[in-house]
Amino acid sequence: MELLDGKALSTKIEIQVTDEVKKLKEKCGCTPGLAVVLVGQDPASTAYVKMKKKACDRVGFYSITHDMPENISQEAIEKTIIMMNNDSNIDGILIQLPLPAQIDETKLLELVAPDKDVDGFHPFNVGRLATGLDGFVPCTPLGVMELLKEYDIDVKGKNCVVVGASNIVGKPMAALLLNADATVEITHIFTDDLKKHTLNADIILVGVGVINLIKEDMVKENVIIIDIGINRADNGKLVGDVDFLNVSKKCSYITPVPGGVGPMTIAMLLKNTLKAAKANAEDKK
Ligand code: NAD
Repeated sequence: MELLDGKALSTKIEIQVTDEVKKLKEKCGCTPGLAVVLVGQDPASTAYVKMKKKACDRVGFYSITHDMPENISQEAIEKTIIMMNNDSNIDGILIQLPLPAQIDETKLLELVAPDKDVDGFHPFNVGRLATGLDGFVPCTPLGVMELLKEYDIDVKGKNCVVVGASNIVGKPMAALLLNADATVEITHIFTDDLKKHTLNADIILVGVGVINLIKEDMVKENVIIIDIGINRADNGKLVGDVDFLNVSKKCSYITPVPGGVGPMTIAMLLKNTLKAAKANAEDKK
């Protein structure tokens, strides 16, 4: 069994991005800029935004966080997004999810300019991904594809079972795998007999949020497991959706949690923001 080390790869990517940021600054005096909208005080969201900001600092991006109170109005957030859409110092806009109940999330995501949509959640970019065209791809599944590539794991023709079908993780994960010529099954909470599906998988990609959902008897020998889940166990430790101790014995490759997909998500946010900055620099010429 070999670990798919997302921490090591994300460090390598950060070095590449830092280097490209320097070159971009020399070439056109542009500094990639990321704006984050954070609404409320959800501890996980606050922690993620801090991690993203630190990563931006490390690679030399300009970044700004719009910290907004839990009871903010829809109009106030919309105004901020429009302002950032029109701000030439901002290349990427990220709305940290989840949002409070009074906020219309879809409306906000659709308001972000598609060419600044570094999370890849705008329907324009979702459509481009679905049709196999270039655009912005959600960071977590994009990070998974980079990790597989790093370890020379070709998904072409492989039976890939995606567990979890959210817009952020499962659906774009399935689209990327399909675009890379994998045979893809998408499973979710209403899937009857999950084990029947996972037992047949060459690669299982699980992002659900249920501790120990994938157990030893649900996977075949030499399976590749990508554990996207992030859960807090009773002892306070971060764990994924896979019973790592027992399942890893049967795997050819598996991602650890933490240190697998998590760091790759942030690395892809940096890459997407750099991509947006480069395109915007071209437009300014
Ligand atoms: P979500 O709640 O939006 O979606 C969960 C999905 O899992 C749904 O499609 C649901 O049908 C499915 N599901 C729930 N229970 C199931 C079960 N028992 N069997 C099969 N399917 C089931 O969640 P999300 O935002 O997609 O996040 C999923 C997990 O991925 C969470 O643990 C989250 O913390 C993690 N996550 C990790 C990263 C990262 O960077 N590693 C990024 C985003 C999300």
